[in-house]
Amino acid sequence: MNLTLHLTENCNLNCKYCIRNKRPSDMSEDILIKACDLAFSNSQKMAGLCFFGGEPLLRKDLIYKALDYCLERSKATGVVFKSKMTTNGTLLDEEFLKRAREVDMGIGLSFDGLAQDDCRCFPDGSGSRKILEEKAKLLLSYLPMSYAMLTLAPECVDKYFESVRYLHDLGFVRILTTPAYGKNVNWTDEDLAKLKTQYEKTMEWFEEIILSGQYLYISPFTPKIIECITGRNSAEHCHLGIKQMPVNVDGKLYPCTSFIGDEDYCLGDVFNGIDVKKQVELAKKSSTPKTCIGCDLVKRCTNSCGCANRMNTGDENTVSALQCSIERMTIEVSDKAGENIFTADPEIFKKTFAKGIK
Ligand code: SF4
Ligand code: SF4
Repeated sequence: MNLTLHLTENCNLNCKYCIRNKRPSDMSEDILIKACDLAFSNSQKMAGLCFFGGEPLLRKDLIYKALDYCLERSKATGVVFKSKMTTNGTLLDEEFLKRAREVDMGIGLSFDGLAQDDCRCFPDGSGSRKILEEKAKLLLSYLPMSYAMLTLAPECVDKYFESVRYLHDLGFVRILTTPAYGKNVNWTDEDLAKLKTQYEKTMEWFEEIILSGQYLYISPFTPKIIECITGRNSAEHCHLGIKQMPVNVDGKLYPCTSFIGDEDYCLGDVFNGIDVKKQVELAKKSSTPKTCIGCDLVKRCTNSCGCANRMNTGDENTVSALQCSIERMTIEVSDKAGENIFTADPEIFKKTFAKGIK
């Protein structure tokens, strides 16, 4: 099974839209090893760990311990072990990256591009972009398929397209972008209109890149185009507490990150295992939001992401008007780009998006 390990709630940055616990603590070694055991105990073929925080690189020692332990278990059991990490990147170094490359760790670097210094600052208020630029190059020299993960705050909406292009110029060919959500963030209608313009510009540029034969994956657009032709919705499979389960610093298990600390949703702990009855009940409860029934886009929308819904509306089965607007916009610009690429060069379109069509 796949577990997301919250190794620490501490962080060396102080991002504007951060929702982490402000009374930070770290995971103990005992809890770490129990979590590794849990990942293997429920796995027939694959055990996966995602190192998460706060900032996980503050506890490199725990990451090394987990890697050593899990590789041993993998050798002994034949269960394949895979690892991932989401990091702010400021503490990346060659020693860590050598180890990460040995285990083919999937690394997502949180990097807001040209908006980095607006949103992702150190506690003294100084920006982190300069450091990140160097760290991004270092990361890509070891693991070239690493993701850049851009979070877009409404006050930086005008920088979206240039930021995506900047990340691409740095060498990223996989760029995940998401609007900032949550209680610290306020999107106005004017911001949304600007977002649409930025998305359109980005898609015009994306079309040029794809039609020149280069590889480039930008979320949420590439998945929306793929979903349009395959009819499969990646978000549809995001059942709470089933696909990926967070382990909090105290060893408690939850269905997804925005539920951490809510005892009503606690699904057990690493010492006593998963409360399967509760897990199944929760998965059964998650359903299509009432306001989405009958919508033509229901199969292509992230309305079923209980984590995002809870963050936006307080209820995992209620989608916010904001998310609805952004989904509609994303699908519209993605479809237009997909159509333009297909019309211009059906072979490139097929090579880029149609993998996996049965
Ligand atoms: S890097 Fe992540 S955990 Fe750290 S302050 Fe920023 S959003 Fe929060
Ligand atoms: S576009 Fe809006 S109404 Fe339609 S499925 Fe998505 S969230 Fe629901």
